[in-house]
Amino acid sequence: MVIAIDGPAGAGKSTVARATAAALGFTYLDSGAMYRAVALAVLEGGGEPPDCAAALEIELGSRVLASGRDISVEIRTPEVTAAASGVATDPAVREALVAKQRALMTLGDWVAEGRDIGTVVVPDAGLKVFLTASPEARARRRALERGADWGTVLTEQTLRDQQDRSREHSPLRPAEDAVELDTTDRSIEDVVAQIVALVGRRRAG
Ligand code: C5P
Repeated sequence: MVIAIDGPAGAGKSTVARATAAALGFTYLDSGAMYRAVALAVLEGGGEPPDCAAALEIELGSRVLASGRDISVEIRTPEVTAAASGVATDPAVREALVAKQRALMTLGDWVAEGRDIGTVVVPDAGLKVFLTASPEARARRRALERGADWGTVLTEQTLRDQQDRSREHSPLRPAEDAVELDTTDRSIEDVVAQIVALVGRRRAG
């Protein structure tokens, strides 16, 4: 079974997806890390985004490896974060990464996190969740995580949201059959418990 968790930056996707995967014994897939890996390769002069996407051997786990090199820390810088949204607008990059994501998820149980998991990558996912939170709450969480200035994070986040929502290919939007959960005033435990309960109901039904 695949559980798709999509939504904008800072809605709590990573924390919720990891905790849900741990609670259910599923494997966690961070699709954003793949776009970040491609962005890092481009910034390092590795070539055009589609070529980097095709050439990179990306391994996801407790560390993120690109062709054997541990890039877990480098892919989280503000430069790579901004560049990832840029490479993600390229349809050839998306095609290559979606193929890698589908290949990984052919067997077993997964909690996959991203922007287009429920709409494009796994349209027949057993459960689709679209996580949201107010822009202010999302920026506050990111600023706390990074020890960064709240206003700067909010500005960067607004730009990234606009780019993710308005791009031509696979824009960020909830799948028609997604359950939308607003995490603004809720604890992680509460949201994870709701998702685990939804999975239980889907399995029973
Ligand atoms: O989720 P994360 O912030 O790590 O994603 C980085 C960027 O990668 C996002 O801003 C988005 O543009 C892109 N992305 C995407 N589709 C996904 C996952 C991430 O376009 N499934």
